[in-house]
Amino acid sequence: MLSEARAARLKAVLDPFVDRFDMQRRVLNDPVSLVHRYRDPADQEIAGLLAASFAYGQVSVFLPRLGRLLDGMGPSPRRWLEAFDPAREMPALSWFSYRFHRAADLAALLAGMQAVVEEAGSLGAWMARAWQGTGSLRLALADFVARIREEGRARAKPVFGEPAALTHLLADPRRGSASKRLLLFLRWMVRRDAVDVGTWEGLLPRRVLVVPLDTHLHRVSRLLGLTRRCDASWRTAEEITASLARLDPEDPVRYDFVLCHLGMSGLCPARREPRRCLACALRAECRAGRALGGRRRGEGWLLRSAGGRDAARR
Ligand code: SF4
Repeated sequence: MLSEARAARLKAVLDPFVDRFDMQRRVLNDPVSLVHRYRDPADQEIAGLLAASFAYGQVSVFLPRLGRLLDGMGPSPRRWLEAFDPAREMPALSWFSYRFHRAADLAALLAGMQAVVEEAGSLGAWMARAWQGTGSLRLALADFVARIREEGRARAKPVFGEPAALTHLLADPRRGSASKRLLLFLRWMVRRDAVDVGTWEGLLPRRVLVVPLDTHLHRVSRLLGLTRRCDASWRTAEEITASLARLDPEDPVRYDFVLCHLGMSGLCPARREPRRCLACALRAECRAGRALGGRRRGEGWLLRSAGGRDAARR
């Protein structure tokens, strides 16, 4: 747990970072750009869950594939989903494959989403009801995943066959997974800023969100002392979130995009570069930066450069 004094020092360096980070430009090459295509919240949540579910590996590979998928759903992914019939759509979806996943996984996901929408009116309403019923984001998300997997498999399997990697597509947080892509989806839906669209504003409070933990966020969080844990688990994501809640209890996840992009863009490289650390605005709060001792050079460089290099999330 961060002390009050340490939390105040971190907040003093991270808040300007978040405020000055060039988020809008980075959104263009991020899976959330697929959500920004739509104005209607009903379409945003459908596009969001599809985009987040396949947002792993090379962004240059999955982004065009997801773009093609959404193009095929016409102007309203929600209306397309409501009318989704696995038998009728099989020829149109058979092209789809991405790494571990084939058309059968996609069809099961679509059919499961369709079932959830039928049950509650929207994905957001279903999640809000589950959260109110369980009092826990983790349990609500686990129920959400279980429902989509179960109903999606039942509806799509007779046409598309057994999905091969549905458990990878929708990771169950009850089993310890950090469920990074599902939490990314929740961040997009619940928060609103230049990146996150706020589709579910009012359904779930921002304070219950947990950071979508990836390798970049994990590394930078350890350097900044937000966690000491080494495993990329739900518990580690919760611990980082609890540390960030000391900086902003109502919206701890607001730091996620910037901290992740620091690592991903190479502004804070995985292979230590003393030249960068010596000039980094976070240096005084960073384990690696402090280890360099009293040498100083161009303080504030990282802050000034925060919008400078392009990257894409995960
Ligand atoms: S001081 Fe170095 S390691 Fe620490 S955040 Fe800055 S660039 Fe990264």
